[in-house]
Amino acid sequence: MKKILQQDIEKTNFLLSHYETVCDRQRFWHIRNNTFKIESCQICNNLAHFSKTRFLYTYCSKQCSKKGFAKKLHDKAVNKSLIVLVEKKCNLCEKIKPVSEFYTNGKSKITGKYNIRSFCKVCSDIKGKESYIKFKEDRANKQRLYYENNPGSKEFCLH
Ligand SMILES: [Zn+2]
Ligand SMILES: [Zn+2]
Repeated sequence: MKKILQQDIEKTNFLLSHYETVCDRQRFWHIRNNTFKIESCQICNNLAHFSKTRFLYTYCSKQCSKKGFAKKLHDKAVNKSLIVLVEKKCNLCEKIKPVSEFYTNGKSKITGKYNIRSFCKVCSDIKGKESYIKFKEDRANKQRLYYENNPGSKEFCLH
């Protein structure tokens, strides 16, 4: 690790009024990120703890770290499930409707996105039988695609 410069020490001396001990790594973190303010815990806004082993700011406590980890997992799941498509044209009535007006066939194993049905909810409900046939066709197509992308696989599950 390179030696910390006197000017960098001066720049980061504000840390001394908040932390009992300030190591060079912590000072380097501020120099490298060019930020000269106190970092706060992402969960409770208390003073964030600087991890000397990981060379970064973490949460203020174990409890907040747990909460933060759970939040990250949750956000990740939400982002993943966001439907990018906003509107879609129904193949039957040919009206352009918001995707919420369409049923979905669950998430695609291949793309990780929701498969939105070709018919809107109204058409699906009226043409229940026909849309069921279409759904079965979609399913068969998806199955074929899955086998093509995963040669040798015997199992196929839509859920
Ligand atoms: Zn906290
Ligand atoms: Zn329709």
